[in-house]
Order: sequence, then C-alpha cells, then structure tokens
Amino acid sequence: MPSPEPSISPPPAVAALVTLAALAVGLTLPDVDLRLGLGHRSALTHSLLPALLLLAWRRRAAACGIAAGIGVHLAADCFPRRMTGYATVKLPLLGALPPLESYAWLALNAAAALLLAAWWARRLHAPVARALVGLAALAAALRYLWHDPGGWPVLALAGAVALAVARRRGRWAGRARCAGGARSTRSRTP
Ligand SMILES: [Zn+2]
Repeated sequence: MPSPEPSISPPPAVAALVTLAALAVGLTLPDVDLRLGLGHRSALTHSLLPALLLLAWRRRAAACGIAAGIGVHLAADCFPRRMTGYATVKLPLLGALPPLESYAWLALNAAAALLLAAWWARRLHAPVARALVGLAALAAALRYLWHDPGGWPVLALAGAVALAVARRRGRWAGRARCAGGARSTRSRTP
C-alpha cells in the first residue's frame, strides 16, 4: 500500500515564526534596489513581485510575511516630501514613472500586498497564532512607520480609518440593541 504524501506545510509555530521573520525582512526589502544598482524605487522591489516569487516557490508563510512588510514599506513610500527624481518609481528599461503614476503604483501595490497578507494569514494560521502574529506584526509595523518620514501620514490615516470603523460598529451595536429591546417589548405585550 503506498504511504501517504508527506505534508510540505511547516508546523503551526514554525509557520508563525517564519511569517514574522519574513515580515521583518519585508519592511526594508524594497530598498535593496540601492545595493543591486536597479535605480532607487525600482518597480521590481517596490511591488508585490518578491511575495509572488515566494508564493510560486510554495513558501506561503514567508510570502505572507514578506507581503505584509512590503505593504507597510510601500504605504510609507507614498508620502515623500516631493514625488520627483529619487522618489518616483523606476521601471526596468523604461525609466522613471511620472509623479501621478508613481503614487498610483505605490498605493495599489501597498493595498494589494496588505490585502493578500491578511488573506494568506487567515488561510495559514489558526486563530490564536493569527492573533499573536497580528499583534507582533502590528508592533513591528508601528515601529517602522514611527521612524520613517513617510510613516506619520500612514499612521494618521490608519488611525482615522480605525476610528471610523469603531464608530460605525458602535452605531450598529446600538441599533441592534434598540431593535432587540423593541422586539422583546412587543412580545411581552398581550
Ligand atoms: Zn522604498
């Protein structure tokens, strides 16, 4: 009888650690373009590409962390003092993108990287591990954004979104309580 295929997924604790280590690498990975002579803000490193390569190589836990780190890095890169020269995105062979396209490139890749990281985290990690990884990832992201000049607008934006979501949830919870109260009053009325 043939033996069952061995699982290629690492144990849950190892997968969580791999995701966190990859996140730490991903936070600064896009700027290796400086060392590789690709031109600063190369589209090859300032994009989802490194995470997709890891995914193609079936390193899902690492791809999840790298995507999260790159997402945070690119979000901060969306807020340079001026989107000119050094700050614009450079496409291989084609050169620098204009300012508006550079903003769009960075913002879309940041959003896609963060969404994919969240999606992979849900698929890869059990709820408790996911919560721990999420907390550690949040602490690492906050630390990075605090020290990066472009990080402050991202923190302000994220704070405003979190506040709006919390208010909306509070309003929904209030309405649900009111509706529940009205229903129970009606059911008691003979
Ligand atoms: Zn960068």
